[in-house]
Amino acid sequence: MSETKRLISNRMKSLQEAYICDLPNQIGMMESTWKKLIMTKNLDKYIIELIRVFHSMAGTASSFGYPKMGEYARKGESVLKVILSSCRISAESKNTMQHCIMGMKATLEGAKTSCNYEFELDVLQVRRECSCQIRKTVIIVDDDEHFLVNLSFQLECFGYEVFKFHRLQEVEEALPQLEPAGIIMDMVFPEGEVAGADAVKRLRTLKSYHIPVIFLSRRNDIHSRLAAVKAGSDAYFLKPVRPTDLIDKLDDLTRTEEPEYCRVLIVDDDKTMADYHAALLEQNGMETLTLRDSLQILDYLSRFNPDLILLDLNMPECNGYELAKLIRQVPAYFRIPIVFLSGEKNLELQMQAMATGGDDFITKPVQCEQFIGLVKLRAERMRMLRQYMERDGLSGLYNHSVMKQHIERLFLQAVRSNHPITLAMLDLDHFKCVNDTYGHITGDLVILSIARLLEQRLRSTDVIGRMGGEEFAIIMPNTPVDCAYEVMEEIRMKFESMCYESVNGLFHVTFSCGLAGFPIYTDPASLYNSADKALYKAKSIGRNVTYIAPDNEL
Ligand code: GH3
Ligand code: MG
Ligand code: MG
Repeated sequence: MSETKRLISNRMKSLQEAYICDLPNQIGMMESTWKKLIMTKNLDKYIIELIRVFHSMAGTASSFGYPKMGEYARKGESVLKVILSSCRISAESKNTMQHCIMGMKATLEGAKTSCNYEFELDVLQVRRECSCQIRKTVIIVDDDEHFLVNLSFQLECFGYEVFKFHRLQEVEEALPQLEPAGIIMDMVFPEGEVAGADAVKRLRTLKSYHIPVIFLSRRNDIHSRLAAVKAGSDAYFLKPVRPTDLIDKLDDLTRTEEPEYCRVLIVDDDKTMADYHAALLEQNGMETLTLRDSLQILDYLSRFNPDLILLDLNMPECNGYELAKLIRQVPAYFRIPIVFLSGEKNLELQMQAMATGGDDFITKPVQCEQFIGLVKLRAERMRMLRQYMERDGLSGLYNHSVMKQHIERLFLQAVRSNHPITLAMLDLDHFKCVNDTYGHITGDLVILSIARLLEQRLRSTDVIGRMGGEEFAIIMPNTPVDCAYEVMEEIRMKFESMCYESVNGLFHVTFSCGLAGFPIYTDPASLYNSADKALYKAKSIGRNVTYIAPDNEL
């Protein structure tokens, strides 16, 4: 069992133990409220709350492996509903309820266990802390010095650290000291027509892990291709290769980061139930956040940006029907799948819930496999859809409209927590001229490489978007404007030093950047406009500079 799985399974056990520990309290409270109900003339005072508690117990108890307890609670709930509709407590109702409470107590006796209510470390926290960004190292071996230098340039533009070798013997000597993520190998060397493949076989014996190898050759015959396969190659490209094709392949073969997890927001006023469902989903590779107070839904949606919402039906303050309607009335959340999760077995009420904007209805207690499968499928589909809706096709960065939403959301968050935030607007200089001189395809490559450079150099909490054409925006939470200035200047100088190759020769591209931040600017619109104005100022004072919007622009 992996460490993560072990942690989650411990957490499930803790949840179950905690639930059992709390059961005597709950049943005691149910019994005393029932006694008060019998004594009072004012039924309304206790009955709604009592129905809610019985209803919740009916769903929860079965989920934790006590179906008998769940049955008693469900029976009790229906007795209470009869009392509510008839406004009187009959002798039969009294007897049935007494039977239910006795039954629950008896079930509890059999379920006693030692109390050890201690949650394990938050699993997601562990996961996040383990992941850190490392620049990937690639070895290129080619006896054509000119080709070697150019290809290295290209790969460095895309964030790889490159070790160049033009003789096979050199790479064999150096490999023990290196930890490459991949090797790009030529086939023909002075040593022979398939010397590259022979060298890869020897190189493989020097390392205990599998290094992805891409062959890059002018030879397109079966002997060369077969030699590559026999040497355990992962890809074979013919020269001249399109840099983007090669980089895509290299990215694929050297990918080490964990896939992004689907995010599920669980809204349930019953904490134990919510934690139980959260643990089930986390055990199956999803990230969850639980919300008990439904009135905080908008804040949670904006902070967590879930791929799916699991919604309980019976909650105080705002029930599931109302909450679903409310969510659907916010345009940004119009498409998020909403799945109701409730003990409600009445088909008509289930349909009513769906009509408010729900996508599915799951009854508690859940059938684990079905529950996990359904949530995962819907959340993943949403994530894919989101990818198409939110990302720019060329660079993979957020598109203009999503970026505007992120700016607004993160800005308001910064104001609320009183933390600084900076917005950077960036535009490539004289890009029209780059396209005109070197061609549109080369221009695209430049756009891709600045996108990659930004992704590599910025923090994972920074949000990067392509606002259109050759213009980009970066939101840097928790960053005062002077720190952002240093970061952007470092990136600007790095970009300026990058060298691109085209049929018309080598060239460089630069960008200009404008910055504005909170607390100087105090609303999202003025932040955006000021960063934009600062960018135009940077252009007007000569380009290839970073300019900070002055305080007096307010
Ligand atoms: P300035 O320094 O003032 O920003 O000058 P500029 O030439 O960069 O600005 P201008 O707005 O005049 O031209 C932008 C150019 O960017 C025009 C357009 O052809 C090019 N462009 C926009 N989108 C793309 C794209 O997706 N790919 C490529 N290759 N070029 C693009
Ligand atoms: Mg431009
Ligand atoms: Mg422009």
